[in-house]
Amino acid sequence: MSVVSPENALAPRPFGPLSYDADGVLQLSGVPLAPLTAQYGSPLYVYSAAHISEQIQRLQTAFARLDPLICYAVKANMNTHVIAHVASHGVGADVVSAGELKRALAGGVSPEKIVFAGVAKQPTELEAGLEAGILQFNVESWAELEALNAAAGRMGKTAPVALRVNPDVDAHTLAKITTGTRGNKFGLPFDDIPALVSQMEALSHVRLEALAMHIGSQLLKIQPFADAYRRLADLTRHLAEEQGTRLQRLDMGGGLGIPYSPDDGSGPDPVDLAAAAVEHLGPLDLPIIMEPGRFLVGNAGVMIADVVYTKNSYDHRFLLLNAGMNDLMRPALYDAYHHVLPLMHSEVATVPQDLAGPICESTDVFAKQRLLPPLDEGAQLAFCTAGAYCAVLANHYNGRALPAEVLLESDGTARLIRPAISDEDMIAREQTL
Ligand SMILES: *Cc1c(COP(=O)(O)O)cnc(C)c1O
Repeated sequence: MSVVSPENALAPRPFGPLSYDADGVLQLSGVPLAPLTAQYGSPLYVYSAAHISEQIQRLQTAFARLDPLICYAVKANMNTHVIAHVASHGVGADVVSAGELKRALAGGVSPEKIVFAGVAKQPTELEAGLEAGILQFNVESWAELEALNAAAGRMGKTAPVALRVNPDVDAHTLAKITTGTRGNKFGLPFDDIPALVSQMEALSHVRLEALAMHIGSQLLKIQPFADAYRRLADLTRHLAEEQGTRLQRLDMGGGLGIPYSPDDGSGPDPVDLAAAAVEHLGPLDLPIIMEPGRFLVGNAGVMIADVVYTKNSYDHRFLLLNAGMNDLMRPALYDAYHHVLPLMHSEVATVPQDLAGPICESTDVFAKQRLLPPLDEGAQLAFCTAGAYCAVLANHYNGRALPAEVLLESDGTARLIRPAISDEDMIAREQTL
């Protein structure tokens, strides 16, 4: 329910779970945001459990025919309370380190629903996965297979393996988040898989159970997925027909994109993704795993920041914020766009403004020439679509705290799920060595 007036037609519009109420107060899933910073401080991450539930249900409904095991890609948002909320829907986890494995287990994910990805898993990490009894290791090199075989041998176990195939498909996404093309560090070359599968037979402590792939993140088109599924299906048939190797399941990865602005509409429809999966993978009649991260949590989150100062420099008006690239790195890291909404809607005509943080780096700029009402010191802003790949990338650069995180429960109750991790905490650890 927006209150955009004709004279302020350019005012930024809310989207997803965000809305302005009749008084112009910004809400996330119906909960006003401003009071949360009064209680928990700023900058602050806030996540909507209700939105996460909706996204899980959207996927489950779209994919009903394939009934996949959804393994949430924990790297998108690794807070254990977020993981626990996701897991409460029967969802598993896709982890990429022993740390994320511990987080998934702490969040209540059952080990038989955990897949372990990552190109450089160390022997101790492989052992942690074996110890926990996870569903599968997504292996990305022969060297890793040997290391996994050795670790399983030491422990008297047999490791369940999915070979991660690099299908050499262009995902048409940001160059820095594409993973399934030639020359990329991820996966095994498509044409090498048949030989690797034969070679694997010499390793007695690994068991091939699946093929896996993940071609990139924030994909807005279904075609690259469809191309990759077709290649995966061809390879699966080839292994069965030519080598007598029958797989137990297929892991189709994550990567489904989401809207980052109201101009993106509602983003790609999981129904279309499911149709591509049914067409190409359905005939194989194998259980399917999918690994969504951003799709589940991206638009569930916002990061709130305050305007500390404003200044005019040459022909730019700057809003200097109390949050920087250490708190939300995607604009500095990938030139990513984050939609920005004032916590209080304003009727004043918009003007172009540059939004920058306090960090001593020229890349510490969130947005240039962004059309916003002319905000003053003390005004508060929400960075939208901050539920995925934001808090997880926060760091202490420039002696700054990691921001606190709050989860809005499905009934609207706000719960602190991580306090700010202050500079004092860091100093104390250094000083007690
Ligand atoms: C990052 C990642 C995902 C999740 O990607 P999203 O774009 O967040 O859906 C899934 N699988 C693997 C192997 C990943 O590395």
